[in-house]
Amino acid sequence: MSKKRLRVEIHGAVQGVGFRPFVYRLADEFHLPGWVLNSAHGVFIEVEGEQAKLEAFLARVASDKPRHAVIQTLEHATLEPVGYTAFEIRKSQDHGRKSALVLPDIATCDACLADVFDPKNRRYRYPFTNCTDCGPRFTIIEQLPYDRSHTTMRRFPMCKRCLAEYENPLDRRFHAQPNACPDCGPQLALWDRSGRVLAERDDALKRAADAVRSGKILALKGLGGFQLIVDARNESAVQAMRRCKARDEKPFAMMAPTLKRIQAQCTVSPLEASLLTSPQAPIVLLLHGAGAVEVAPAVAPQNPYWGIMLPYTPLHHVLLNDLGFPIVATSGNRSEEPICTDEHQALEQLGDSADLFLVHDRPIARHADDSVARVIAEKMCLLRRARGYAPLPIVLKNDSASPALAVGAHQKNTVALRLGQNAFLSQHVGDLENFSTVQAFQKAIADLQCLYDVKPQRVACDAHPDYLSTQHAISLGLPLKKVQHHHAHVLSCMAEHGLQGPALGIAWDGTGYGLDGTVWGGEFLRVEADGFERVAHLRPFRLPGGEAAVRQPRRSALGLLHEMGGASLQARLDFTPQELKVLQAMLAQGLNAPLTSSAGRLFDAVAALLGLCLVCGFEGQAAMQLEFAAMEEPSDVEPYDIDVNEGSEAQLDWAPMVRAILDDVGAGKPIAWISKRFHHTLVEGMLAVAKRAGVERVVLSGGCFQNKLLTERAIQRLSQAGFTVYWHQQVPPNDGGIALGQLAALDAQKG
Ligand code: ZN
Ligand code: ZN
Ligand code: FE
Repeated sequence: MSKKRLRVEIHGAVQGVGFRPFVYRLADEFHLPGWVLNSAHGVFIEVEGEQAKLEAFLARVASDKPRHAVIQTLEHATLEPVGYTAFEIRKSQDHGRKSALVLPDIATCDACLADVFDPKNRRYRYPFTNCTDCGPRFTIIEQLPYDRSHTTMRRFPMCKRCLAEYENPLDRRFHAQPNACPDCGPQLALWDRSGRVLAERDDALKRAADAVRSGKILALKGLGGFQLIVDARNESAVQAMRRCKARDEKPFAMMAPTLKRIQAQCTVSPLEASLLTSPQAPIVLLLHGAGAVEVAPAVAPQNPYWGIMLPYTPLHHVLLNDLGFPIVATSGNRSEEPICTDEHQALEQLGDSADLFLVHDRPIARHADDSVARVIAEKMCLLRRARGYAPLPIVLKNDSASPALAVGAHQKNTVALRLGQNAFLSQHVGDLENFSTVQAFQKAIADLQCLYDVKPQRVACDAHPDYLSTQHAISLGLPLKKVQHHHAHVLSCMAEHGLQGPALGIAWDGTGYGLDGTVWGGEFLRVEADGFERVAHLRPFRLPGGEAAVRQPRRSALGLLHEMGGASLQARLDFTPQELKVLQAMLAQGLNAPLTSSAGRLFDAVAALLGLCLVCGFEGQAAMQLEFAAMEEPSDVEPYDIDVNEGSEAQLDWAPMVRAILDDVGAGKPIAWISKRFHHTLVEGMLAVAKRAGVERVVLSGGCFQNKLLTERAIQRLSQAGFTVYWHQQVPPNDGGIALGQLAALDAQKG
């Protein structure tokens, strides 16, 4: 029978997942000679044999691929044989266009865990244990293709035994690039605040655990940066951490030793359990029970949710196993700054906060915060997309000939790079409010370009002229597209679902620069392939003091009352007579009191009128308080009246609702009941506008759709009325998704 040569080219996330060893074993099973290699482009295979065998081999490549591999394209060709005699893994080729996908970091697999907790294993308690199924990827890779010499592991030559594993195709550490052991790999050290070494290796870990046990604050060099750690049961220790981080009320994330321990304290659905234990291992927002006594109140004040994750590196596993109790594990940064990745930088920045530093000598190539997820309508919704998810691309509908960059917005910034159909959305960067976050922003841009070795030909940014991201985009001197903020929100959700217009986008958030120069944020946009039309929005009101209103929901309330021409309940807002005079003058003259149609500010205003939150410690707090209050109302409630005022741009008029709310407050009705009615009313407003717009597909985006109650109610009511509803899952509804929408808007330019 005549032999043929099969050539296969695979693109996708196929490096660092054991793809070559998998192909090697498969070729061995079929007795097919040939080779496999990694290039910056993807994985290439050639095998020779009889046609039937080749076909069976090819089918198995696709069907049996390693667990973490993502095959985006698989192309093959049949050629004349050249007479291979054995199968080999060839040396990587690192020239050519770099389009192989960089994998995210993967949580420790069960097999490695078994090694780490087996006293007879040579990796017993070794914090840097990994294999082709797990371990660091994105946070150690310096360039493509993914080989040890291109990672921060290159400074650790493998010992004989590790090398033997690395070279044995039948070993699960075959070509595991970060492979290491206590003899040859990275090591821990425990430092004091001056950087003096107090202990090394396992002793360092044990002494760090002792410190946490005794209420000390530990700065731990983790996978994608430092974490600040403290005993989550210890109220005074948690409060000390709050003072250090200058964070009054914003909830802290926790790490718990086991899923069982979480289940004992929280309601955990099967989906939530699978997220917690997934290879991405995000922080998951979970409802905790009233009897949840294990955690100190200061961890998440007045919050029915806890953000909890499980250990995701051997270091975390060993530490949590030794401790046996939940810890607060929050990003190791100064308030609002990027997470520290370097131990010397950490000493400088966290020296006042942390008592001790548990560090190691494996450099972190780039930062990656812990991701945050919430289950909304039985689906995961990422609120912060970073470790475990970034930098896997979102695959867009259209191919793009030239590379493009999107710089995102201002808050919760991420950037994105477009290569062909792939939109590489960066890890969470942060709010571009200080020098170091702006540096991190620039680094994230340079980093994506460097990894994929491309120079963008076009750039997209927000329409806000004052955003630092916008100014950076302008400074690049490339063809520039300014994308209206809420248009980008809707496009990001559409891109995530592979959706093209027409669709009715409901983009509700805190703040976005509107095309008419006012502050938008309660928008209904009809989105088509070539742009959008603002079909409706919330009735605008003035924000006395502008941006200052974000931290003072009572200012939104004052603006709302002013717009209604009334002054009832003003006393509840707790302004001094002097403050009130100044603010009212601003409102009366329209000076430093911009008009806004923001839904976020409407939430703020109502929260303030209900006395839930007059001044807030962090953005979005008032809306959260309203959501939590509404959750306490068990009964079904009637919505208030809400009007759609007709016009070329219809206005959703909240005034009848707010009047009724004021009456209810005056009559002493329960806050929970009013809050729930408020949520339901807004959804009826969405429904009324959707019916008027008559577009079958409705897309929900913007920070307001982090609100589970609002989002689930909207999905339910709109679906019942026959609309097909899309909401965020892989990409955050908040401004963390804007960069993706901006990239998608570049397609619209082409018409
Ligand atoms: Zn493993
Ligand atoms: Zn070794
Ligand atoms: Fe936004």
